[in-house]
Amino acid sequence: MSSAEAPLPMFRPRPEDKAELHRLFDEINRPGATARGGLHRLSASAEDGAARQVLCDWLAARGVDVRVDPVGNVFGVIEWRKGAPVVLCGSHLDSQPTGGRYDGAYGVVCAALAQQAVAQAVAGAGITPAFNLAMVNWTNEEGARFVPSLLGSSVFIGALDAEDALAVRDEAGISLGEALSRIGFKGTRGLDLDVAGYAEVHVEQGRGLESSGTRIGVVRGTWAALKLRVRLKGDQAHTGPTPMKDRRDALLAAAHVIAEVRAIADGEPAGVMHSSVGRLHVYPNSANVVPSDVTAYVEFRSRQPEVLDRAERRFAASLNRFAAMTGTSFEIEDRSLRAPAGLDPALGDLAHEVAAGVGLASADVDTVSGHDAISLSQVTPTVLLFVPSAGGIAHNEGEYTSPEDLEAGLEVMAGVIGRMCLAGAVLEDEGAAA
Ligand SMILES: [Zn+2]
Repeated sequence: MSSAEAPLPMFRPRPEDKAELHRLFDEINRPGATARGGLHRLSASAEDGAARQVLCDWLAARGVDVRVDPVGNVFGVIEWRKGAPVVLCGSHLDSQPTGGRYDGAYGVVCAALAQQAVAQAVAGAGITPAFNLAMVNWTNEEGARFVPSLLGSSVFIGALDAEDALAVRDEAGISLGEALSRIGFKGTRGLDLDVAGYAEVHVEQGRGLESSGTRIGVVRGTWAALKLRVRLKGDQAHTGPTPMKDRRDALLAAAHVIAEVRAIADGEPAGVMHSSVGRLHVYPNSANVVPSDVTAYVEFRSRQPEVLDRAERRFAASLNRFAAMTGTSFEIEDRSLRAPAGLDPALGDLAHEVAAGVGLASADVDTVSGHDAISLSQVTPTVLLFVPSAGGIAHNEGEYTSPEDLEAGLEVMAGVIGRMCLAGAVLEDEGAAA
């Protein structure tokens, strides 16, 4: 951009934008609010439908074009140039069971307000940006009610078939398609525009920013994740008379699995691997019956794929050993490996520049958890920002981010997407990705 041109708008949110950020955040988090200050808003539930409606009404009242695609992703589009690519920003309104109210919801509300701040600045400066600007609420980011996680954004980037996604069923046997129809969010019109870049702001869900006194984290890379669904099969028997040596206890095998998954992570230096078994299905799940069938959901995460390779080999050997010890058999029913992703270096640099311009301390960070931005980074230049999480508390009703930090995220998000829309330096170099 030549210095002879008129100065660029700063895209700074106005005081009323910041006030509205807090007001809309509170309003959108009423559906699903828990007594202990958290949020219980499973994807495509009635509460999710109510929160989505708050968003749609808010956007429509401001003249933003609301579109809902077949898997329920909600887009709010401002089109300055008919048919030109869009800069997209957003996050998710669904939560974990008894989760926190900042995870995802903050990113959606921040995107809506940042879009408004940019639109105001554009109108005030009398310019027409190169790219249009859309905000988005992705369906089923959490993967709590419907598996897999990142479902809406995965369909959007073409990594998951829409029909397959709609056919996924929750524990009660309700498909995502049925659930979306019930809440009136099984749409017909998607974004219909090429995406020039993606931006998301999210709470950190860790202690790094808080402990270093940093306001803005610029995510440079993600950890890889290996997720396994392991089925352990034994034999149903009476817990009373059946001699111990005759028992083929699938839950006992699962107990060994749980301890081993932990031991594998503990065998690495601190911070190299995180692992968990977060969910079990036990059949028949009766106090008087030796369990015959257990499904365990296993996760290993690391920055280094070779660490996950090593873990998977050790885990496979351990499964054979546990089966022999307990007289059970096993099957790996599902395996998915999410590769570590690098986010766009130039957009990361831009985020630091914007933060410095408004006097906010920023630092490079990695993300351990998956976010919709990781999906999008596979198809378009992507930037992911973090704001501090008090105590690193996440997926918990006690999750908290201060109002000042929420406003800091809005400042940087508005500056970043505003500049992305102008196609200054950053995106121009890379061209618009489809
Ligand atoms: Zn989230």
